[in-house]
Amino acid sequence: MYILCAHLDGVGGFSGNCDDDASGTALVVEAARAFAGAAVSTRCSIRFFLTNGHEAGYKGAIEYRDNRHDLQGKENPPGSRQFPEPVWLGLINQDLILYDHGNPAGPVQIPQASIRVNYCPWSYAESSLYMAQQFIAIDKVIFVGYPAVIPAGGGGLGAFDAGQFANYCPVISPEEGGGDAGYIANPLHHDDADTYETYSEADFALAFSAVQREVGEMAFLTQTTITGNTPAKSEPPVANAAPLSSSWSLLTRQHELTISASSRGTHTVKLSSLDGTPIMRRIGQGRMSYSLRTESVGAGLYVVTINADGNVMQKSVVIAR
Ligand SMILES: [Zn+2]
Repeated sequence: MYILCAHLDGVGGFSGNCDDDASGTALVVEAARAFAGAAVSTRCSIRFFLTNGHEAGYKGAIEYRDNRHDLQGKENPPGSRQFPEPVWLGLINQDLILYDHGNPAGPVQIPQASIRVNYCPWSYAESSLYMAQQFIAIDKVIFVGYPAVIPAGGGGLGAFDAGQFANYCPVISPEEGGGDAGYIANPLHHDDADTYETYSEADFALAFSAVQREVGEMAFLTQTTITGNTPAKSEPPVANAAPLSSSWSLLTRQHELTISASSRGTHTVKLSSLDGTPIMRRIGQGRMSYSLRTESVGAGLYVVTINADGNVMQKSVVIAR
C-alpha cells in the first residue's frame, strides 16, 4: 500500500489555512477522486488520509503510525483473507504547495516558480530518493507546466507529517518553493489572511502541477491501468488508417518485455528511458512481436513509442526488478 496524506487542521483562524494546508488537503481529495474512477485499477492499494492535530505536534500522524504500524500485513479476522493495514511501501505527504513568490516574497509568482521535493536522507534514503526522482521525472510523460527540484541533502522533513513516518517507510514531502524560496517564505503562513481570496490563478496552477505529479507518481508506483481507454482507442480516428493493435506485456518470470505492433506498411517500435535515451529500436512490417530481455535495462519507468503507418502512439511502461 502507498499512502497519500495531508493535514486538515491549521492555525490561521477560521477562514485562513488556504496554503497550510487546504492546498495539500485538496490535492489528496482530488487524487482520491482520480483513482476512484470505475475504469482505474491498481496493482496495490493506495490509502488517502487527512491528519488532525498537526499544528499541535503532528498528533494525527503519530496516532496513525503508533496505532497501526504493528498491524501491517496481518490478516484480521484470522482466516478472512482481509488485511486491514497493508504493508506501507511509501508515503507522500503534502504541505504548502500554493505559493512561490521568491524569498523575500514579492507580490506575484516568480517566473522560476517550482515545487521542491523533500525526501528523507537518513532512513530508507535510497528508496525515498527514488520516489523523489519519480516525482521529478513524471513531466517526461505528462505536461505539468512547472518544474520540480530535489533539494541538496533531502530538505527538511522535520516539520512535516512525513517525518513521523520516515523510520517506517520511504517518504517524500513535496512543497512550494523549489528554487531559492527556502523554508516557508509565504508571509501569510499561519496568518488569518492565508485565505482563498489572497491567491491567484498562477498560485493554484502551481499547486495543480503537484496534483498532476502525485497522481502520475502514484499511477507509476502502483502500476495503474485504465481499462477501456487504451492509447489506440483514444487516438483521434485517421482516415484510411491501417488496422493497428499494440500490446505490452511484462513477463517478470522470464525477465522479458514483449511489444507487439501491426501495420499495413512499415512500423517503428522504440523503447527509451524518460530522458529520451534510446534502448531499443526496431523496424518491421505487418504484425510483429519484439522481445527484450529486461535484466540489462534496469528497473524503472520507460516510454514505448510506436509509429505505424504514420500513427504515433506512446505509452509508459514499468520494468520491475
Ligand atoms: Zn502545514
